[in-house]
Amino acid sequence: MSPIATPAARDRLRIAIQKSGRLADPARALLSSCGLSWRESRDRLFCYGESLPVDLLLVRDDDIPGLIADGVCDLGVVGRNVLQEQDTDRRAGGRASAFREWRALGFGGCRLALAVPEAWAWEGPAQLQGTRIATSYPALLAQWLAGEGIDAQVVQLSGSVEIAPKLGQADAVCDLVSSGATLAANQLKPVMTLLESEAVLAGPVTAFDDARRELADMLLRRLDGALRIRNSKLLMFQASREAVPGLLPLLPDAEAPTVMQVDGCDSLALQALCHGAVTWQRLEDLKRAGARGLLVLPVEGMLA
Ligand code: ATP
Ligand code: ZN
Repeated sequence: MSPIATPAARDRLRIAIQKSGRLADPARALLSSCGLSWRESRDRLFCYGESLPVDLLLVRDDDIPGLIADGVCDLGVVGRNVLQEQDTDRRAGGRASAFREWRALGFGGCRLALAVPEAWAWEGPAQLQGTRIATSYPALLAQWLAGEGIDAQVVQLSGSVEIAPKLGQADAVCDLVSSGATLAANQLKPVMTLLESEAVLAGPVTAFDDARRELADMLLRRLDGALRIRNSKLLMFQASREAVPGLLPLLPDAEAPTVMQVDGCDSLALQALCHGAVTWQRLEDLKRAGARGLLVLPVEGMLA
């Protein structure tokens, strides 16, 4: 029997990620950094977990919330935009939530924005009354319009939303924006943000009640460590006791430094985990303030 056809095997965790697209590589890289590895299968839709009983299913991002709702997958990496759209749609149809965001993952950042033709003088949401708005996010748009008390026609399109005004299909659009270049290329300008989005780890509404619970807890602990150290560096240096109060303000992004007495001399050895960029400029500022022997080390793992 194919492994995909056996959702009853509840001692393994199954995570859905995007097969190809913006979130595919970063999702895999993040899970790998949590110590997961997989044996590639020939169909490349299912990857059997080798280091841990955690398998991957490679799918279209839009399918991920439904796979979790149906219990085919336990967890998924998907844009908050997709997750919230499908949850809003479920609830608007009178169904209960069947998945939720477990963790924000810090990549795939974008926003769901309302954009209007550049020629419009934007005066506020009331201007949308009676217009047609093209979107691939009809539930989120409808919810926002209802909240604003605006009666507008939602034109649902599955792609190429930005050209809808040019084609005469709509007056405005509600679409994902990151740099805004695509909107600008279509003579549109973003005027409102409906949702700030990024990739998230999605899971069921309630915790697992079998062997998957321990696996999921372990994965979350590792994920939290990986997310915390994502851009972090360990900074080590020496300084005299008197210099320390002048050095600490130069480390506003650091966790409380570990301070060690160096035997037989007056100086202290310090190490600090910095979560912001440790630039040459910063090292030079620290040196001027009395730090010596500065060493910047990459951080490979962290378990709080
Ligand atoms: P699939 O074939 O899996 O359905 P897709 O075309 O729907 O792929 P992508 O374009 O790869 O999906 O986008 C996946 C996710 O990346 C989006 O849902 C969103 O969360 C995020 N994202 C980040 N920046 C952008 C952007 N500028 N445009 C669209 N999505 C973006
Ligand atoms: Zn998609």
